[in-house]
Amino acid sequence: MFKKILIANRGEIALRIQRACREMGIRAVMVYSEADRDAKYIKLADESVCIGPAPSGQSYLNMPAIIAAAEVTDAEAIHPGYGFLSENASFAERVEKSGFAFIGPTAESIRLMGDKVSAKDAMIKANVPTVPGSPGALPEDPKEIILIARQVGYPVIIKAAGGGGGRGMRVVHTEAALLHAVQTTRAEAGAAFGNPTVYMEKFLEHPRHIEIQILADTHGNAVWLGERDCSMQRRHQKIIEEAPAPGIPRKLIEKIGDRCAAACKKVGYRGAGTFEFLFENGEFYFIEMNTRVQVEHPVTELVTGIDIVQQQIRIAAGEALPFTQKQIHHRGHAIECRVNAEDPWTFMPSPGRITMWHPPGGPGVRVDSHAYSQYFVPPNYDSMIGKIIVHGDTRQQALARMRSALSETLVDGIQTNIPLHRELMVDAKFNEGGTTIHYLEGWMAERKR
Ligand code: ADP
Repeated sequence: MFKKILIANRGEIALRIQRACREMGIRAVMVYSEADRDAKYIKLADESVCIGPAPSGQSYLNMPAIIAAAEVTDAEAIHPGYGFLSENASFAERVEKSGFAFIGPTAESIRLMGDKVSAKDAMIKANVPTVPGSPGALPEDPKEIILIARQVGYPVIIKAAGGGGGRGMRVVHTEAALLHAVQTTRAEAGAAFGNPTVYMEKFLEHPRHIEIQILADTHGNAVWLGERDCSMQRRHQKIIEEAPAPGIPRKLIEKIGDRCAAACKKVGYRGAGTFEFLFENGEFYFIEMNTRVQVEHPVTELVTGIDIVQQQIRIAAGEALPFTQKQIHHRGHAIECRVNAEDPWTFMPSPGRITMWHPPGGPGVRVDSHAYSQYFVPPNYDSMIGKIIVHGDTRQQALARMRSALSETLVDGIQTNIPLHRELMVDAKFNEGGTTIHYLEGWMAERKR
């Protein structure tokens, strides 16, 4: 096992990985930008190294600075967390060429899955169902594009092959709007992701977002750890996640889970990963694979009892998975609410000094956050400052626990989306379970102050 790991990230996930290291007796090196210098998880770290000024381009995305930090601290491996460099194949390559283990898949796998066109193609070959759409990237010829759209059937969605974070997508309802939409998405994709390639999918109108967590080792084993329902989204960004997905028959989940694990073996995947699907009328349609730990991994940890971050580290160190598919059990129900520093009405970011942070506790409540009273939320990064995750024997109990947890959470000095979560936890439709990816935006359009 590694003696020392460098964590190339910040905030709650950096702290989460630090906790996994501590439990395993591994020293953790934290890197930080000048904006994060005073954060407690940095002050309380075994070791820490400043890697640059606040803008992430000069710090958390600064590959030479991060690799130099690993060299001077004698770390053996680098954990990239999520976001930043976690799905950057060149980074994975540079880490390994510099003699460190990359805690994640090979650069080749990241590249394959990072291009949504090649990822989809690989899934079709591995027998994983995908959304009907263009066979690969869209051609240049306008006539061909029109024909493809007619075959797929309107509405369609134009998506960037290199897209991510819910950006680079455009829904088209009529042929008249098609070519302009393709052109605009191409231009945006070229500017935002450095890759103008786009593809087309049938736009599913009432899907749920269901994803499968997998773990694969370097000995040819791959397992799936159940599903997560992440349908509560605003602008394609998840805000609430839960496991299991309400109302989906176990047989269907098992079938798709087995296919995901088999696909991992087929493409020689290693590490943790997530297969994202849209689920409509009893069918799963693959949309993309994330080759890293996800924000919502705790809900799976709570229902399976498996520490996903520790498993990532063990896999990177060459260990075989300590369990088989049959030994993975799912108990109870877990729900996660993402706590964002933002106005709960306008969603404008609300950085600044937290004057009071009073997190919840009690049975079945977990808080993953680097925040505390007097913590300054820097304006430079994502507005998520933590996650409240609850576990209960049933969904009913988990919901009750989340209501109780949210009622005792107090944050002063900045605005957060906690009031929004409080309302959603008593919403009748959400309580029923099984809402689609459009539910939250519809609900927001109707809610009254
Ligand atoms: P990203 O990498 O930007 O997250 P995804 O491909 O995972 O992009 O899609 C993000 C979200 O966009 C999905 O969760 C869903 O809400 C919506 N979406 C993507 N593809 C489709 C589709 N074919 N039909 C309907 N909604 C879609």
